[in-house]
Amino acid sequence: MPLRSVLRALRDHGPQPRIELARRLSVSPTTVTKVVARLLDRGVVTETGVDAPGLRLGRPRVHVALVPTAAYVIGVQVGVGVVRLGLCDLLGQPRRTTRFDFDVAGTDATVVLGRLAARLGKLMAEAGVTREEVLGVGVAAPGPVDPHRRRNLLSVNLGWRDVAFSDHLEHTLGLPTVVDHNVRAMAVGEARHGGHPDADPLLYVYVRTGVGAGVVIDGKPFRSGGYGVAELGHLRVSDSGRICACGAEGCLETVVSEPRLAERLAALGNPADAPLRRLAGLAAAGDLGAEAVVEDLVEHLAMGLAFAVNLLNPRLIVLGGMFEDAPAALITRVEEAVRRKAFPVLRDVVRVGRSTLRDGGVIGGATVALDHFFYT
Ligand SMILES: [Zn+2]
Repeated sequence: MPLRSVLRALRDHGPQPRIELARRLSVSPTTVTKVVARLLDRGVVTETGVDAPGLRLGRPRVHVALVPTAAYVIGVQVGVGVVRLGLCDLLGQPRRTTRFDFDVAGTDATVVLGRLAARLGKLMAEAGVTREEVLGVGVAAPGPVDPHRRRNLLSVNLGWRDVAFSDHLEHTLGLPTVVDHNVRAMAVGEARHGGHPDADPLLYVYVRTGVGAGVVIDGKPFRSGGYGVAELGHLRVSDSGRICACGAEGCLETVVSEPRLAERLAALGNPADAPLRRLAGLAAAGDLGAEAVVEDLVEHLAMGLAFAVNLLNPRLIVLGGMFEDAPAALITRVEEAVRRKAFPVLRDVVRVGRSTLRDGGVIGGATVALDHFFYT
Protein backbone atom coordinates (compact mmCIF):
# COMPACT_ATOMS: atom_id res chain seq x y z
CA MET A 1 0.00 0.00 0.00
CA PRO A 2 1.44 3.38 -0.95
CA LEU A 3 2.26 5.86 1.79
CA ARG A 4 0.24 8.43 -0.06
CA SER A 5 -3.13 6.79 0.49
CA VAL A 6 -2.55 7.04 4.25
CA LEU A 7 -1.59 10.70 3.86
CA ARG A 8 -4.71 11.39 1.80
CA ALA A 9 -6.93 9.64 4.35
CA LEU A 10 -5.43 11.79 7.14
CA ARG A 11 -5.88 14.93 5.05
CA ASP A 12 -9.50 14.16 4.15
CA HIS A 13 -10.74 12.60 7.39
CA GLY A 14 -8.49 14.07 10.06
CA PRO A 15 -6.63 12.32 12.89
CA GLN A 16 -7.74 8.73 13.45
CA PRO A 17 -6.56 5.49 15.08
CA ARG A 18 -4.57 3.00 13.00
CA ILE A 19 -7.45 0.52 13.09
CA GLU A 20 -9.76 3.07 11.48
CA LEU A 21 -7.17 3.81 8.77
CA ALA A 22 -6.97 0.08 8.06
CA ARG A 23 -10.73 -0.19 7.75
CA ARG A 24 -10.98 2.90 5.58
CA LEU A 25 -8.23 1.74 3.21
CA SER A 26 -9.28 -1.93 3.26
CA VAL A 27 -5.84 -3.18 4.33
CA SER A 28 -4.63 -5.10 7.36
CA PRO A 29 -3.79 -3.30 10.62
CA THR A 30 -0.23 -4.69 10.32
CA THR A 31 0.23 -2.97 6.96
CA VAL A 32 -1.03 0.33 8.35
CA THR A 33 1.27 0.02 11.36
CA LYS A 34 4.29 -0.45 9.05
CA VAL A 35 3.38 2.49 6.85
CA VAL A 36 2.66 4.75 9.81
CA ALA A 37 6.05 3.80 11.32
CA ARG A 38 7.78 5.02 8.12
CA LEU A 39 5.77 8.23 8.14
CA LEU A 40 6.57 8.80 11.82
CA ASP A 41 10.26 8.36 10.98
CA ARG A 42 9.98 11.01 8.31
CA GLY A 43 8.23 13.38 10.71
CA VAL A 44 5.22 13.75 8.41
CA VAL A 45 2.75 12.29 10.91
CA THR A 46 2.57 12.27 14.67
CA GLU A 47 0.66 10.45 17.39
CA THR A 48 -1.91 12.65 19.07
CA GLY A 49 -4.72 12.57 21.58
CA VAL A 50 -6.79 9.58 22.37
CA ASP A 51 -10.55 9.00 22.08
CA ALA A 52 -12.70 11.34 24.14
CA PRO A 53 -13.50 9.75 27.52
CA GLY A 54 -16.81 7.97 27.56
CA LEU A 55 -16.93 7.42 23.81
CA ARG A 56 -16.00 3.78 24.04
CA LEU A 57 -15.04 1.15 26.52
CA GLY A 58 -11.65 -0.46 26.77
CA ARG A 59 -8.19 0.88 26.12
CA PRO A 60 -8.00 4.42 24.67
CA ARG A 61 -6.71 4.46 21.09
CA VAL A 62 -3.84 6.62 19.93
CA HIS A 63 -4.69 8.74 16.90
CA VAL A 64 -2.39 9.35 13.95
CA ALA A 65 -2.36 12.89 12.56
CA LEU A 66 -0.60 14.77 9.79
CA VAL A 67 2.01 17.29 10.86
CA PRO A 68 0.86 20.21 8.70
CA THR A 69 4.17 22.06 9.04
CA ALA A 70 6.38 19.08 8.13
CA ALA A 71 6.77 20.72 4.70
CA TYR A 72 5.31 23.59 2.73
CA VAL A 73 4.25 24.56 -0.78
CA ILE A 74 3.80 27.97 -2.32
CA GLY A 75 0.49 28.80 -4.00
CA VAL A 76 0.40 31.58 -6.60
CA GLN A 77 -2.67 33.13 -8.19
CA VAL A 78 -2.09 35.24 -11.27
CA GLY A 79 -5.12 37.46 -11.77
CA VAL A 80 -5.96 40.45 -13.92
CA GLY A 81 -3.57 43.13 -12.63
CA VAL A 82 -2.73 41.32 -9.40
CA VAL A 83 -0.58 38.41 -8.27
CA ARG A 84 -1.26 36.80 -4.89
CA LEU A 85 1.11 34.34 -3.29
CA GLY A 86 1.14 32.39 -0.07
CA LEU A 87 3.29 29.92 1.81
CA CYS A 88 0.90 27.07 2.66
CA ASP A 89 1.16 24.01 4.89
CA LEU A 90 0.36 20.39 4.06
CA LEU A 91 -3.34 21.07 4.68
CA GLY A 92 -3.31 23.89 2.12
CA GLN A 93 -3.66 26.58 4.78
CA PRO A 94 -1.82 29.84 4.04
CA ARG A 95 0.73 30.63 6.77
CA ARG A 96 1.95 33.83 5.20
CA THR A 97 0.62 35.69 2.16
CA THR A 98 1.59 38.68 0.06
CA ARG A 99 0.53 40.30 -3.23
CA PHE A 100 1.61 42.78 -5.84
CA ASP A 101 -0.29 44.69 -8.48
CA PHE A 102 0.72 45.27 -12.06
CA ASP A 103 -0.55 47.45 -14.84
CA VAL A 104 -2.56 45.24 -17.20
CA ALA A 105 -2.01 47.43 -20.22
CA GLY A 106 1.54 47.13 -21.35
CA THR A 107 3.10 44.88 -18.70
CA ASP A 108 4.88 42.03 -20.38
CA ALA A 109 4.56 38.57 -18.83
CA THR A 110 8.35 38.32 -18.36
CA VAL A 111 8.30 41.43 -16.15
CA VAL A 112 5.58 39.90 -13.98
CA LEU A 113 7.54 36.60 -13.82
CA GLY A 114 10.64 38.45 -12.63
CA ARG A 115 8.72 40.23 -9.90
CA LEU A 116 7.01 36.98 -8.91
CA ALA A 117 10.33 35.15 -8.49
CA ALA A 118 11.70 37.98 -6.34
CA ARG A 119 8.57 38.01 -4.16
CA LEU A 120 8.65 34.24 -3.71
CA GLY A 121 12.23 34.43 -2.43
CA LYS A 122 11.26 37.24 -0.06
CA LEU A 123 8.19 35.36 1.19
CA MET A 124 10.28 32.31 2.17
CA ALA A 125 12.88 34.51 3.86
CA GLU A 126 10.23 36.43 5.86
CA ALA A 127 8.57 33.19 6.94
CA GLY A 128 11.93 31.76 7.99
CA VAL A 129 11.42 28.75 5.73
CA THR A 130 14.29 27.30 3.72
CA ARG A 131 14.10 26.11 0.13
CA GLU A 132 14.58 22.52 1.37
CA GLU A 133 11.35 22.76 3.37
CA VAL A 134 9.34 23.79 0.31
CA LEU A 135 8.11 20.93 -1.87
CA GLY A 136 7.31 23.13 -4.84
CA VAL A 137 5.23 25.93 -6.32
CA GLY A 138 1.71 25.68 -7.77
CA VAL A 139 0.64 28.46 -10.10
CA ALA A 140 -3.04 29.12 -10.74
CA ALA A 141 -2.75 30.70 -14.20
CA PRO A 142 -5.35 32.80 -15.98
CA GLY A 143 -6.22 30.44 -18.83
CA PRO A 144 -5.58 27.03 -20.40
CA VAL A 145 -2.26 25.32 -19.71
CA ASP A 146 -0.26 22.76 -21.71
CA PRO A 147 -0.85 19.04 -21.01
CA HIS A 148 2.40 18.83 -18.97
CA ARG A 149 1.16 21.75 -16.86
CA ARG A 150 4.28 23.86 -17.32
CA ARG A 151 3.03 26.76 -19.43
CA ASN A 152 0.01 29.06 -19.54
CA LEU A 153 -1.04 28.96 -23.19
CA LEU A 154 -3.38 31.91 -23.37
CA SER A 155 -4.88 34.62 -21.21
CA VAL A 156 -7.50 36.61 -23.12
CA ASN A 157 -7.89 39.19 -20.34
CA LEU A 158 -4.14 39.87 -20.09
CA GLY A 159 -3.25 39.43 -23.74
CA TRP A 160 -0.55 36.87 -22.83
CA ARG A 161 0.40 33.82 -24.85
CA ASP A 162 2.57 30.86 -23.96
CA VAL A 163 4.04 31.98 -20.62
CA ALA A 164 6.59 29.43 -19.31
CA PHE A 165 5.98 29.74 -15.55
CA SER A 166 7.62 26.40 -14.68
CA ASP A 167 10.82 26.94 -16.68
CA HIS A 168 11.23 30.43 -15.30
CA LEU A 169 10.60 29.68 -11.61
CA GLU A 170 12.59 26.44 -11.64
CA HIS A 171 15.51 28.25 -13.25
CA THR A 172 15.49 31.31 -10.99
CA LEU A 173 14.44 29.71 -7.67
CA GLY A 174 15.34 26.05 -8.06
CA LEU A 175 11.86 25.05 -6.90
CA PRO A 176 9.83 22.51 -8.90
CA THR A 177 6.76 24.22 -10.30
CA VAL A 178 3.43 23.02 -11.65
CA VAL A 179 0.92 25.23 -13.46
CA ASP A 180 -2.83 24.78 -13.74
CA HIS A 181 -5.83 26.70 -14.97
CA ASN A 182 -6.71 29.15 -12.20
CA VAL A 183 -10.35 28.26 -11.75
CA ARG A 184 -9.66 24.53 -11.95
CA ALA A 185 -7.06 25.04 -9.23
CA MET A 186 -9.63 26.90 -7.11
CA ALA A 187 -12.15 24.11 -7.72
CA VAL A 188 -9.69 21.52 -6.38
CA GLY A 189 -8.85 23.77 -3.42
CA GLU A 190 -12.56 24.11 -2.69
CA ALA A 191 -13.16 20.36 -2.99
CA ARG A 192 -10.22 19.51 -0.67
CA HIS A 193 -10.44 22.31 1.88
CA GLY A 194 -13.83 24.02 1.49
CA GLY A 195 -15.70 21.81 3.96
CA HIS A 196 -18.23 20.36 1.51
CA PRO A 197 -18.85 16.70 2.34
CA ASP A 198 -20.86 14.72 -0.22
CA ALA A 199 -20.29 17.34 -2.90
CA ASP A 200 -19.01 15.29 -5.78
CA PRO A 201 -19.14 16.21 -8.62
CA LEU A 202 -18.38 19.76 -7.59
CA LEU A 203 -18.63 22.65 -10.06
CA TYR A 204 -16.79 25.78 -9.01
CA VAL A 205 -17.67 29.02 -10.80
CA TYR A 206 -15.52 32.11 -10.35
CA VAL A 207 -17.01 35.47 -11.34
CA ARG A 208 -14.93 38.61 -11.35
CA THR A 209 -13.56 40.24 -14.52
CA GLY A 210 -14.57 37.09 -16.36
CA VAL A 211 -16.48 33.93 -15.58
CA GLY A 212 -14.48 30.71 -15.22
CA ALA A 213 -15.37 27.20 -14.14
CA GLY A 214 -13.62 24.13 -12.79
CA VAL A 215 -15.03 20.68 -12.21
CA VAL A 216 -13.95 18.03 -9.70
CA ILE A 217 -15.29 14.54 -10.39
CA ASP A 218 -14.53 11.54 -8.16
CA GLY A 219 -12.15 13.77 -6.22
CA LYS A 220 -10.10 14.56 -9.31
CA PRO A 221 -10.01 17.75 -11.37
CA PHE A 222 -11.64 17.29 -14.77
CA ARG A 223 -8.76 17.54 -17.21
CA SER A 224 -9.73 15.42 -20.13
CA GLY A 225 -10.05 16.57 -23.72
CA GLY A 226 -7.41 18.80 -25.23
CA TYR A 227 -7.09 21.05 -22.21
CA GLY A 228 -9.97 20.00 -19.94
CA VAL A 229 -11.04 23.60 -19.56
CA ALA A 230 -14.69 24.45 -18.93
CA GLU A 231 -15.16 27.88 -20.53
CA LEU A 232 -18.53 28.50 -18.94
CA GLY A 233 -18.13 32.26 -19.31
CA HIS A 234 -18.22 31.92 -23.07
CA LEU A 235 -21.55 30.15 -23.37
CA ARG A 236 -23.90 32.31 -25.38
CA VAL A 237 -26.73 33.45 -23.13
CA SER A 238 -27.92 36.62 -24.84
CA ASP A 239 -29.06 37.38 -28.38
CA SER A 240 -28.62 41.09 -27.86
CA GLY A 241 -25.24 40.80 -26.21
CA ARG A 242 -22.00 42.61 -26.64
CA ILE A 243 -18.89 41.44 -28.39
CA CYS A 244 -16.80 39.47 -25.88
CA ALA A 245 -13.00 39.52 -25.38
CA CYS A 246 -13.02 36.05 -27.00
CA GLY A 247 -14.51 37.50 -30.21
CA ALA A 248 -17.95 35.91 -29.90
CA GLU A 249 -21.17 37.71 -29.06
CA GLY A 250 -23.54 37.48 -26.09
CA CYS A 251 -21.21 35.41 -23.87
CA LEU A 252 -22.23 34.88 -20.23
CA GLU A 253 -19.30 36.96 -18.99
CA THR A 254 -20.39 39.99 -21.02
CA VAL A 255 -23.63 39.97 -18.97
CA VAL A 256 -22.64 38.93 -15.43
CA SER A 257 -19.04 40.09 -14.90
CA GLU A 258 -18.18 42.55 -12.13
CA PRO A 259 -17.18 45.36 -14.57
CA ARG A 260 -20.50 44.98 -16.38
CA LEU A 261 -22.41 45.24 -13.09
CA ALA A 262 -20.33 48.28 -12.11
CA GLU A 263 -21.28 49.90 -15.40
CA ARG A 264 -24.97 49.26 -14.84
CA LEU A 265 -24.76 50.47 -11.25
CA ALA A 266 -23.09 53.69 -12.42
CA ALA A 267 -25.82 54.17 -15.03
CA LEU A 268 -28.32 54.14 -12.14
CA GLY A 269 -26.38 57.02 -10.57
CA ASN A 270 -24.54 55.04 -7.86
CA PRO A 271 -20.89 54.61 -6.93
CA ALA A 272 -19.62 51.59 -8.83
CA ASP A 273 -17.43 49.88 -6.21
CA ALA A 274 -18.41 46.43 -4.83
CA PRO A 275 -21.22 46.45 -7.39
CA LEU A 276 -22.85 43.12 -6.55
CA ARG A 277 -23.20 43.81 -2.84
CA ARG A 278 -24.40 47.34 -3.52
CA LEU A 279 -26.94 46.24 -6.15
CA ALA A 280 -28.29 43.50 -3.89
CA GLY A 281 -28.62 46.01 -1.04
CA LEU A 282 -30.43 48.56 -3.20
CA ALA A 283 -32.74 45.90 -4.63
CA ALA A 284 -33.58 44.60 -1.15
CA ALA A 285 -34.44 48.18 -0.14
CA GLY A 286 -36.95 48.44 -2.98
CA ASP A 287 -34.92 50.18 -5.72
CA LEU A 288 -36.62 48.97 -8.91
CA GLY A 289 -33.71 49.84 -11.21
CA ALA A 290 -31.28 47.82 -9.09
CA GLU A 291 -33.80 44.99 -8.81
CA ALA A 292 -34.00 44.79 -12.62
CA VAL A 293 -30.20 44.47 -12.84
CA VAL A 294 -30.16 41.79 -10.12
CA GLU A 295 -32.98 39.90 -11.85
CA ASP A 296 -31.07 40.04 -15.15
CA LEU A 297 -27.89 38.80 -13.43
CA VAL A 298 -29.67 35.92 -11.66
CA GLU A 299 -31.51 34.75 -14.77
CA HIS A 300 -28.49 34.84 -17.10
CA LEU A 301 -26.15 33.25 -14.57
CA ALA A 302 -28.73 30.54 -13.86
CA MET A 303 -29.04 29.91 -17.61
CA GLY A 304 -25.29 29.24 -17.83
CA LEU A 305 -25.34 27.12 -14.66
CA ALA A 306 -28.35 25.11 -15.88
CA PHE A 307 -26.39 24.21 -19.04
CA ALA A 308 -23.64 22.93 -16.77
CA VAL A 309 -26.11 21.02 -14.58
CA ASN A 310 -27.59 19.28 -17.61
CA LEU A 311 -24.12 18.33 -18.89
CA LEU A 312 -22.33 17.39 -15.68
CA ASN A 313 -24.97 16.62 -13.05
CA PRO A 314 -23.03 18.30 -10.19
CA ARG A 315 -24.18 17.88 -6.60
CA LEU A 316 -22.82 21.25 -5.61
CA ILE A 317 -22.12 24.49 -7.44
CA VAL A 318 -19.82 26.80 -5.49
CA LEU A 319 -19.84 30.47 -6.49
CA GLY A 320 -16.58 32.32 -5.89
CA GLY A 321 -15.07 35.72 -6.69
CA MET A 322 -17.60 38.53 -6.27
CA PHE A 323 -20.14 36.08 -4.82
CA GLU A 324 -17.99 35.32 -1.76
CA ASP A 325 -19.52 38.18 0.20
CA ALA A 326 -22.90 38.28 -1.55
CA PRO A 327 -26.01 38.11 0.66
CA ALA A 328 -27.21 34.55 1.33
CA ALA A 329 -30.61 35.48 -0.10
CA LEU A 330 -29.01 36.17 -3.48
CA ILE A 331 -27.34 32.74 -3.53
CA THR A 332 -30.71 31.14 -2.73
CA ARG A 333 -32.25 33.09 -5.57
CA VAL A 334 -29.63 31.78 -7.99
CA GLU A 335 -30.25 28.24 -6.72
CA GLU A 336 -33.99 28.56 -7.27
CA ALA A 337 -33.46 29.94 -10.78
CA VAL A 338 -31.07 27.08 -11.64
CA ARG A 339 -33.62 24.54 -10.43
CA ARG A 340 -36.28 26.20 -12.59
CA LYS A 341 -34.14 25.95 -15.71
CA ALA A 342 -32.35 22.61 -15.33
CA PHE A 343 -33.59 19.13 -16.25
CA PRO A 344 -35.88 17.40 -13.71
CA VAL A 345 -34.17 14.79 -11.51
CA LEU A 346 -30.76 16.45 -12.08
CA ARG A 347 -32.03 19.69 -10.59
CA ASP A 348 -33.23 17.87 -7.48
CA VAL A 349 -29.70 16.96 -6.39
CA VAL A 350 -27.91 20.21 -7.14
CA ARG A 351 -27.25 22.77 -4.44
CA VAL A 352 -25.76 26.22 -4.95
CA GLY A 353 -23.47 27.71 -2.31
CA ARG A 354 -20.68 30.20 -2.10
CA SER A 355 -17.01 29.81 -1.42
CA THR A 356 -15.94 30.16 2.19
CA LEU A 357 -12.21 30.07 1.45
CA ARG A 358 -10.36 33.35 1.78
CA ASP A 359 -7.40 33.44 -0.60
CA GLY A 360 -9.10 30.77 -2.75
CA GLY A 361 -6.65 31.32 -5.61
CA VAL A 362 -3.59 30.92 -3.38
CA ILE A 363 -5.11 27.85 -1.73
CA GLY A 364 -5.96 26.54 -5.21
CA GLY A 365 -2.38 26.94 -6.44
CA ALA A 366 -1.10 25.34 -3.23
CA THR A 367 -3.53 22.43 -3.59
CA VAL A 368 -2.32 21.78 -7.14
CA ALA A 369 1.26 21.69 -5.83
CA LEU A 370 0.30 19.43 -2.89
CA ASP A 371 -1.56 17.01 -5.16
CA HIS A 372 1.42 16.94 -7.54
CA PHE A 373 4.34 16.85 -5.11
CA PHE A 374 2.94 15.24 -1.97
CA TYR A 375 -0.38 13.38 -2.12
CA THR A 376 -0.08 11.53 -5.44
ZN1 LIG B 1 -16.65 35.04 -24.96
